[in-house]
Amino acid sequence: MLRLMSGKSKVVIIGGGFGGLSAAQALKSAPVDVTLIDRRNYHLFQPLLYQVATGSLSPGEIAAPLRGVLSRQKNTRVLLGDVPDIDPVSKQVRLADGATVDYDSLIVAAGSQTSYYGHDVWSQWAPGLKSIEEATTLRHKILYAFEVAERLPDPAQRRAWLTFVIVGAGPTGVELAGAIGEIARQTLKNDFRSIRPEDAQIILLDGGPRLLPSFPEDLAQKAERSLAKLGVQTKMGALVHDVDRGGVGLQVNGTAEPDHGGRVKVGPDLTIANFPDIYVVGDLALSLDASGKPLAGVAQVAMQQGAYAAKAIVRKVSGQPQQKPFAYFDKGNLAVIGRAAAVANIFGVHVSGLVAWLVWAFIHLMYIVQFQSRILVFIQWAIQDLTFNRGARLITGVAPTDFNFNREMAGGDRAVEPKVEPGSGTKRDSVAVPAH
Ligand SMILES: Cc1cc2nc3c(=O)[nH]c(=O)nc-3n(C[C@H](O)[C@H](O)[C@H](O)COP(=O)(O)OP(=O)(O)OC[C@H]3O[C@@H](n4cnc5c(N)ncnc54)[C@H](O)[C@@H]3O)c2cc1C
Repeated sequence: MLRLMSGKSKVVIIGGGFGGLSAAQALKSAPVDVTLIDRRNYHLFQPLLYQVATGSLSPGEIAAPLRGVLSRQKNTRVLLGDVPDIDPVSKQVRLADGATVDYDSLIVAAGSQTSYYGHDVWSQWAPGLKSIEEATTLRHKILYAFEVAERLPDPAQRRAWLTFVIVGAGPTGVELAGAIGEIARQTLKNDFRSIRPEDAQIILLDGGPRLLPSFPEDLAQKAERSLAKLGVQTKMGALVHDVDRGGVGLQVNGTAEPDHGGRVKVGPDLTIANFPDIYVVGDLALSLDASGKPLAGVAQVAMQQGAYAAKAIVRKVSGQPQQKPFAYFDKGNLAVIGRAAAVANIFGVHVSGLVAWLVWAFIHLMYIVQFQSRILVFIQWAIQDLTFNRGARLITGVAPTDFNFNREMAGGDRAVEPKVEPGSGTKRDSVAVPAH
């Protein structure tokens, strides 16, 4: 067992993302011993992951070592470890390597996984975007597709390789689609001899009726127009029912059900039923707003919940009455589409274009944890905006979709043309496009 001998109340935090880090920092001066456990040794700024996936930023620029971030916080220790299990009766956290850590209060801020709606097999063709590993896999797939297309003589095959499908038209999907549009139209414009990168097809799909559902209608329309300028086609009401090597199967005019699978239901004080010493915060928590709607999985919610749980523990330890139920203070939503193009809803004020982009850039820089990373990201953005160049365009590692030229040119077993198949009974379109 890993012990602390100070005799102070023991607070264990699982996860050093937005929720866990905010909780740890809020306990900085509290009379408690804090142990933060994470399976990776860094805090990851997920909102900029898509910029790693599209070659704008390098992984190190959006990650900060947890040990360094918390080094001055004397009541806090950081442990590297994976937590598969908690024993709430004996109040112990169990690590995958067999070690145990005791707690008096526990904050679980372990985030969420990409949901494939029960079809985890899709992940090999369509990686999620939650970790640095997934971002670099995606970067590999995007850049590699242009390389393969450059070597293929057949226009239909080229077109297939230059078709990119993004499923999910929330802020991340919109940002990713805009960034791929910029890569194709601007960054790579002069880099190839056989293909025209700007001919790439970029298709943004969503099962809902419109993109950016958490934004007001007028901003969603502006975002759609900005995406169209970058060559992105949007297809709403399109439910994915299949993803394989050959493409993405769709059911059009379907209705997407929100997926809350895997989230842990918490009460108004963010604890779980029957365990008043276990708080769950951030993406992992299924927490409801005043109107009974689940709060979105965004960084602001995680940070505010982390700080709330920390405060609740301090009050408990110092014998003060419980605080009021958690209430999320919504400062607004932001999504960037491309260079000097963004949409923002800030305290109900709708902003778009360059002004929204400047707000987006300022807020993201402000929330990057380390000062050094803020400077590096700022410099990268400045260079990129002046030159259209994306410095981190490296194809690293291997992806399951890598092309074997000799074998595949001989066999040619890829589906190369988007195809439409009428289904039986219901009105159904099935569009097959390569899911690189
Ligand atoms: C691509 C992308 C773009 C986004 N863009 C935005 C945006 O623009 N604005 C916005 O507000 N939000 C955005 N979000 C959402 C935001 O990043 C999340 O809401 C936020 O990260 C949630 O914080 P969290 O602390 O709950 O989880 P996370 O930040 O995911 O942190 C969870 C931590 O727990 C650790 N962990 C997980 N399981 C274990 C375990 N078993 N044992 C030990 N450690 C564990 C992980 O390593 C990780 O460090 C985006 C998310 C993604 C993926």
